[in-house]
Amino acid sequence: MTSGHGIAGVERRGLMFVLSSPSGAGKTTLSRLLLDRMPGLSMSVSATTRAKRPAEQDGRDYHFVDKARFEAMVKNDELLEWATVFDNRYGTPRAPVEAALSSGSDVLFDIDWQGTQQLREKARADVVSVFILPPSAADLEKRLHTRAQDSDEVIRGRMSRATHELSHWAEYDYIVINYDVEDAFAEVQSILQAERLKRERRTGLTAFVRDLQKQLGQ
Ligand code: 5GP
Repeated sequence: MTSGHGIAGVERRGLMFVLSSPSGAGKTTLSRLLLDRMPGLSMSVSATTRAKRPAEQDGRDYHFVDKARFEAMVKNDELLEWATVFDNRYGTPRAPVEAALSSGSDVLFDIDWQGTQQLREKARADVVSVFILPPSAADLEKRLHTRAQDSDEVIRGRMSRATHELSHWAEYDYIVINYDVEDAFAEVQSILQAERLKRERRTGLTAFVRDLQKQLGQ
């Protein structure tokens, strides 16, 4: 991946910041807070074959496509990763991610464990993954009901799917337990800030230090 200007003007390699969790653990809220409060981060908008929920907007929350269009995207290698979740297809369009990274922006992904595995296989050094855990099963269920965008049957499906999702927690770099949204946000923000400072990502450091040494030598 290409690099852009980061902290203190030192060139930095863009990173792929992945948030995964069972539905209802608060990942969508955390993603919104991150995008609002962290400059230099843009959201990867996935393509999906699932039906749009009332509050969702095409192109902002997802690109809502039919099965034929999704198949064509897979066939044409337009997706960086894709998976089937709750009988629907979800995938990450490649071009916007590459454009964002090459303009020096980090990219936020709200994808499941299957997609995270695929990104890791493709770009291990550029992927930072965070798994969000709900504090309890009761809390998860409450959030799914409060959201009230899905039928009871869909909610039951999501609860049973949550158990399966949870089993993948140990594949992630970081684990955040969402007891309180502001506390969880602060933790996720610290992870991103620290990862941005990692030496290996700061491609401009050699030149920066060389310049410092030159100044010191004078
Ligand atoms: P929802 O239907 O609630 O928006 O999302 C269901 C699940 O699909 C969530 O766990 C979400 O992270 C995952 N998901 C959304 N977009 C993608 C994607 O592009 N790729 C993969 N692998 N999972 C996705």
